[in-house]
Amino acid sequence: MQKILLEIYEKFKETYNIENWWPIYDGKEPFTEISVGAILTQNTNWNNVEKALKNLMSYELLTLEKLKDIDIEFLHELIKPAGFYTRKSKTIKEFATKSYKRKQIDREFLLSIKGIGKETADSILLYGLNRPVFVVDAYTKRLFSRLGFVKEKEKYDRIQKFFMENLPNDVSLFKEYHAGIVEHCKAFCKKKPNCEKCILKDLCFYPT
Ligand code: SF4
Repeated sequence: MQKILLEIYEKFKETYNIENWWPIYDGKEPFTEISVGAILTQNTNWNNVEKALKNLMSYELLTLEKLKDIDIEFLHELIKPAGFYTRKSKTIKEFATKSYKRKQIDREFLLSIKGIGKETADSILLYGLNRPVFVVDAYTKRLFSRLGFVKEKEKYDRIQKFFMENLPNDVSLFKEYHAGIVEHCKAFCKKKPNCEKCILKDLCFYPT
């Protein structure tokens, strides 16, 4: 199993730009910026997240210290481009307040914050804290169910376990693998897939 998963990874690396894939615009507090981005990206595309992050950046607000004290109405205005701004503002404020000066940030803590689910928590752990955690998202489910490795409706934890048991425990690999899945689903394995030109078509049994 590991051999074929690594073969897929090699194809991703040859085809897509997956190194240092999670974008950093401000860089003052990368952990805060990545975490806020992970919250903002729920139910929207990255272009909208980028607008919201740049709004925050323009007021130098991408720090836990600033975000914990920010006026919630002002936060609404700044993150509006990313949608669901009332809910996301509450989550960002709670996240900043509880994380500020906290020594230990782990999955249990992140999941205790309203509005942070498993995918968001794992994105924060992997990209923000360099912990070896595999992120499962809708793209992962779509691609790997079409390739025949998992079922699309399978539970998050079971799909995550599949990758973590079958790939070397390596932070960079987990980041680049996730990035490759996202890029591949955007390029070829869309809702209506473009199998004809797909780099994985020799490995795929999806009927088209
Ligand atoms: S062959 Fe089609 S279904 Fe299979 S991975 Fe490629 S685009 Fe997706």
